Amino acid sequence: MMHAEPPSPPLRLEISRPSLVANWWNLNRHSGKARAGAAVKANGYGLGAEVVTKAFSEAGCRDFFVAYSSEGAVIAPLVDPASISVLHGPLSAEDAAYIAATRMRPVINSLRQAALWLEAGGGPCDIMVDTGINRLGLAMTELGDPLLERLNVFTLMSHLSCADEDSPTNEVQRRRWLEACAQIPSRDTSLANSAGISLGEAYHGTLTRPGLSLFGGIPRDDSRICIFKVANLQAMVMQVRKIDVGDSIGYNATFTAGCPMRIGVVALGYADGYLRAWSDKGTMLETKCLWNPRHQPFPLRVLGRVSMDMTVIDLTGAPDLQEGDWVEVEYDLRQAAASSGLSQYELLTLLGSRFSR
Ligand SMILES: *Cc1c(COP(=O)(O)O)cnc(C)c1O
Repeated sequence: MMHAEPPSPPLRLEISRPSLVANWWNLNRHSGKARAGAAVKANGYGLGAEVVTKAFSEAGCRDFFVAYSSEGAVIAPLVDPASISVLHGPLSAEDAAYIAATRMRPVINSLRQAALWLEAGGGPCDIMVDTGINRLGLAMTELGDPLLERLNVFTLMSHLSCADEDSPTNEVQRRRWLEACAQIPSRDTSLANSAGISLGEAYHGTLTRPGLSLFGGIPRDDSRICIFKVANLQAMVMQVRKIDVGDSIGYNATFTAGCPMRIGVVALGYADGYLRAWSDKGTMLETKCLWNPRHQPFPLRVLGRVSMDMTVIDLTGAPDLQEGDWVEVEYDLRQAAASSGLSQYELLTLLGSRFSR
């Protein structure tokens, strides 16, 4: 007997394609003479690598950055594989052979990786120079190594550690990156992530590498780049119930009603990335109101602890809301970061696999 597909859980992550396109356009424009690429690692910052890559590619983006070759493989059918840069580089001989065979570009982060890449046949690659963040990357003192002369370098890049602050480290790193550019000839030069673009032309080189801002994150308060919200989280109210004075809600009874209340149980929990940080703190909005311009949605507070698969909200502000209706989670990245203490990066990449996208 044939079984139908099981229905997906009632939670969805709406990704705004127009926002993705507009964000890339604006970041590209603010990159001045440089062109903007797109960092789509970690499954497109949690939003879905294929969907976001397609949007950026159609907007005109020609340079994509992923962490691992396996992430590159996901988007390789959608774009020219030669436009995919694998940031962690070849991690083994097999990895080098795979990257060469699929015609992607590894970022060479060490002399060992340079040797692995040359042994696999070489071909166009990028180089990451460490100018002060001390994560991956060749040390400035290694740049004279004869092994590097044998590489066909497309992009010479470095990565800023403090681009989201006004730190003297930025200028120190920029000077070292310029030194490296003078030492190693390359087709493109690249330094700026999302926050780095706002540091101005001197930081742009010929190619910028925004990630966070493409997906709606705003890393610097003084940024003049117009960035639109990309992700909307919505979930179903599975049950509506009435509670009395003195009744408590959720694990450890952290909320106790001071008056009779109508509450809703929402199909969303920390397993979906809606963390316990939102317990007694988060808010949701009635989606019906969002379609009606005359109806200002009233924020519906999260009551008590967020559980693994559900969260309870106060329905006082939504007397018409019924079981089966949907609510939208307030998840403005900047505000959410300020009230949760998490970074905008974490808030995005957290969003779980249970959402239909
Ligand atoms: C992730 C990453 C980026 C993108 O950074 P954002 O801060 O998200 O804009 C750029 N370059 C490198 C090397 C990265 O790892």
